[in-house]
Amino acid sequence: MFTIANGIILKGQNLIPAKENIVVDDGKIINIGKDLNEGKIIDVEGAIVCPSFINGHIHIGDSIIKDEGYGLSLSEMVKPPNGVKHKALANASDDELIEAMKQSMWDMVNSGTTHFIDYREGGLKGAKLLRKASEDIPIKPIILGRDDSFYGEDPDLSKVKNAIRKLLKVCDGIAPSGFGEITDDVARIIASECKRQNKISSIHVAESDSNQIESLDKFGKTEIEKGVDSNFDQLVHLTNPKNNDLELVLKANTNTVVCPRANATLNVGVCRLNEMLDMGMTPLLGTDNVMLNSPNMLRELEFTLKLMSVYYNGYIEPSKLLQMATTNVCRHDVNNVIQKAVMNEGNLAEFVIFKSFSKNPYLNICNRVETKNILYIINKKCIV
Ligand SMILES: [Zn+2]
Repeated sequence: MFTIANGIILKGQNLIPAKENIVVDDGKIINIGKDLNEGKIIDVEGAIVCPSFINGHIHIGDSIIKDEGYGLSLSEMVKPPNGVKHKALANASDDELIEAMKQSMWDMVNSGTTHFIDYREGGLKGAKLLRKASEDIPIKPIILGRDDSFYGEDPDLSKVKNAIRKLLKVCDGIAPSGFGEITDDVARIIASECKRQNKISSIHVAESDSNQIESLDKFGKTEIEKGVDSNFDQLVHLTNPKNNDLELVLKANTNTVVCPRANATLNVGVCRLNEMLDMGMTPLLGTDNVMLNSPNMLRELEFTLKLMSVYYNGYIEPSKLLQMATTNVCRHDVNNVIQKAVMNEGNLAEFVIFKSFSKNPYLNICNRVETKNILYIINKKCIV
C-alpha cells in the first residue's frame, strides 16, 4: 500500500484539479481525499497527478520503417497490399519486428502512456507477435487484427468469418484498413461478429477528401456514413467530413479517434476538432503510424493545441484536449466495448506524475512538460 501525497490531482472524467492524496493498494485506488497517509508515502509536493495516457490509434508494426516514404501520398504509403509499409512488413523478420515494437512500447511508457489501441497487420501471427512482445513491458496493448481474406472484389465470406473467429481468440477486436479495400458484406460481418463476441470493430474513415469523393461516387454514401451504417464501434480520422457526417456519428454514439500529426504528415487536412468538441463529441487522440510519427502523446497534445489555434483562429479548451488523451475512453461508447477492453477492472491506479511549471495544470501538460519531466509512472505492473 502507498499514498501519493501533496500533489494536484486531476480528478474524475473532467479532470478537475484538487489538492488531495490518493491511496493505492495492489494496483487499485482505494481512497482519495485530504490528509490521507497510509503505507509508504510518495511525496509529490506541487506536482500534477494525471491519469496516464491512452494512445487511441497506432500502428506499432511499422516501427521498423520510421520516416521512410516521406512525401509520398497516403495510398502510396499505407494502402494495402502494395504501400511502402506493407512491402516493408512483408520483408521483415519476426525478430526485427518484435525488437522495433518493443522499442516503441518503451517510448510510450517513458512518455506516460499505459494503454494503446493498435491496428495490427500480419493476421493472427502479427497479433501473437505483439502480445508476446508486450509481455514484459508495463503497458496494455488493445490489439485490433485483420486478415488478408478481407480484401478483394469477391472475397470468400466463409473464409472471412473463419479468420475473424480465429483472430478474436487473440485480439481485442478487428480493424480493416478502410472501406476502399473491403466490400460491404465484409464490413457487416466484421461489425456483427465483433458485437456478438463483445469485441471492438474499428475502421479508418474520411482520412482524405479523395477517399470521401470516391466513396460518394461508388456507393452514394460517405465513408463516415458507411461506418455508422455498418455499426462499427470506432471510427478513426474523420478528417474530411461532408454534409451531416459528424451529426450522424454523434447520434450513433460511435467512438472516434483523431490523429492530427499523422494527417499533417500525409498532407490530408486538419480534423474539425473544435467543432467536434462543441457538438459534444468526446474523441480520443492517437499518434497513428510509427513510420510517420513518434508515439509520444505529449508531442501529439502540443501539436494539436497549436494547430487548432491556427486552423480556427480561436482556442481549443486545454482540459478537453487532455481528456482526449486520458478519460474520454471512460465515457460511454456505442457498445461499451472500448471502455471494457481498456479498463476491464475498475479503479485501477494508473497515473503519470508531472513536474509543474505553470499555474494551469492542463497547459502544463499539453504545452510545457517533456518526457524528462515525468516524476513517476504508476500502473498495475509497476512504479517506473
Ligand atoms: Zn491508422
